[in-house]
Formats: sequence, C-alpha cells, structure tokens
Amino acid sequence: MRSTRLSEDVKCPSCGEIIDGATCPFHDATPNPGDLSVCIYCLHWLRFNNDLTLRSMDQDDINKLKPIEFQQLKELTKYLLESRK
Ligand SMILES: [Zn+2]
Repeated sequence: MRSTRLSEDVKCPSCGEIIDGATCPFHDATPNPGDLSVCIYCLHWLRFNNDLTLRSMDQDDINKLKPIEFQQLKELTKYLLESRK
C-alpha cells in the first residue's frame, strides 16, 4: 500500500469533504487519470479526472467497469465500512 498526498482542492463531488490523500490498496501505485477511487467519508465511487480531481461515477461508468474493477470497488467499500466499526 502506498499513500499519496493530493492537491488541497480535491473534494468529494458527493459529500464535499476535502480528500487530501489517496491510498492504493491493491498496487504500489500513485493515482493516475481514469483511476477508480472510493470516498473514505461517504463511500461514493469516484474516478480521477485528467487533472487528478475527482468526479462521481454515474451508472454508465459503473456499467462499463471491468468485472475485476467492480469487484475491487466492492471489496474496498466493504473494507472501509468494516474499518469504521
Ligand atoms: Zn464523499
């Protein structure tokens, strides 16, 4: 796992919380445009834009996910939910 500091302007488009860091749970990677993410606050599914801000994933985005990507987002959401207990 590796955490990266994001620009302070990055906000979750769903809940408006400032997301100042990203952690990749599956690879030792930094975020790239098009990468998937989950808001740590509201668990909304997100995608990085070209400028590494975040946008909401809509139903169309979700429909286009590869099965492995969908599975990873589901696992990550479950993990974040369980880590709150
Ligand atoms: Zn959020």
